[in-house]
Amino acid sequence: MIYSNQNRWWQQISLLGYLQQQGWKPVGRRGREEVAGLCPLHPETRPSFYVNRRKQVFYCHGCGRGGDLVRLVELREGLSFAGALQRLAPVAGGDPLEETYRFYQAQLAYYPEARQYLAERGLWDQEILARLRIGYAPGTCLRAHLEGLGYPRTQLQNAGLMDERGRDRFFRCLTFPLEEAGNLYGRALGEGQPRHRFLPRPKGGLYGWKQARSYASLIVVEGLLDLAALWQAGFPQVVAVLGVWLNEQQMGQIGDSLARTVYVCLDSDAAGNRASQHLAGQLRQAGLPVRRVSLPWGHDPNSYLAGGGTAADFQRCLDQAQS
Ligand SMILES: [Zn+2]
Repeated sequence: MIYSNQNRWWQQISLLGYLQQQGWKPVGRRGREEVAGLCPLHPETRPSFYVNRRKQVFYCHGCGRGGDLVRLVELREGLSFAGALQRLAPVAGGDPLEETYRFYQAQLAYYPEARQYLAERGLWDQEILARLRIGYAPGTCLRAHLEGLGYPRTQLQNAGLMDERGRDRFFRCLTFPLEEAGNLYGRALGEGQPRHRFLPRPKGGLYGWKQARSYASLIVVEGLLDLAALWQAGFPQVVAVLGVWLNEQQMGQIGDSLARTVYVCLDSDAAGNRASQHLAGQLRQAGLPVRRVSLPWGHDPNSYLAGGGTAADFQRCLDQAQS
C-alpha cells in the first residue's frame, strides 16, 4: 500500500484560524510568528498559551501541553486521533472522492498488470493518461487510506466507494475520474466480475465535452478507452457517452448547436450496430446531421487504433461514414 504523507488534509486548516473560529482571542504577540492568549485547555487569567503561525503548533507554559491542531482537538474535546479528524473533516471541506481519485492515480505506477493492460490497449502517451487521471484500484487498501485520513467508514459507504463489508467497489479496476459528475468509472481487468462500474449516481454529461464542443464536428464514442485512443491519435473532437444511450443532459449538450456534424462511432458488431442505429436516431430526431462510422468488423475505436490503424486510416473511416 502506498501511503502519502503529503496530502493530509487537516494540515490545510490554519491552527490560528480554527482557534479564532472557536472564539479564542489573541491578546499579545511574541516576535513575528507567535501570538499569545489564554489557554483554551484550562482556566487561567494570564496568557500562557502560544500559537506559532508558521509552524502551526501551540504550546502552553501553564499546563505544559502542546502540539498541532489535531492534538489540540484531542485534548480539548477528549477525543482519539480518529475522533479529532472526524471533528475536523467538515472544517477542511475534505472530499473523499477527490482523495480517492488521487489515491488510485498514485497506485498505477506500482501495479504492472494495470500498466500492462494500458499498453495492450495501445495507450502509451503519459500526458494523456495524466490528463484523464487514469488510476488503478488494486482493492483492499482504499479503506485504510481514507480512514487514515479521518473519513468515517459510513461516509465512504454512503459515497458508494465501498460496500457494507468495507470492500472496495472498484476492486481490480482501471479508474477514470468523472470529476464534473462527481462520479468514478471503473474498467475491471479481471474476468467474472462486472466489467463497467460507476458510483451509484448519475453518469453526468458527455465526457470530453468542454474540449470538443468548439469543433465543427463531433465524434461520439462509447467508452473512455476509445476517447483516450482518439486523443492520442490526434482527434480532440471526441466525446464519450459512457454507455450506448444518451441521457437528457448529454442530449442537451450535443443539441446546443444544430450546425455540428455528429459522427457516431460505436463497436462494429451486431450489438454495436443496433446501438449505433438507435443513438443516431436519437440525434436525428433532435435535428442534428448524423453520420455512422463503420470500423472493420469486430473493432471499436480503441482496438482499431491499437491494432495498427493509423490516424489517416481512421480519418478515412470518418470520410466514408454514411449519413
Ligand atoms: Zn494550558
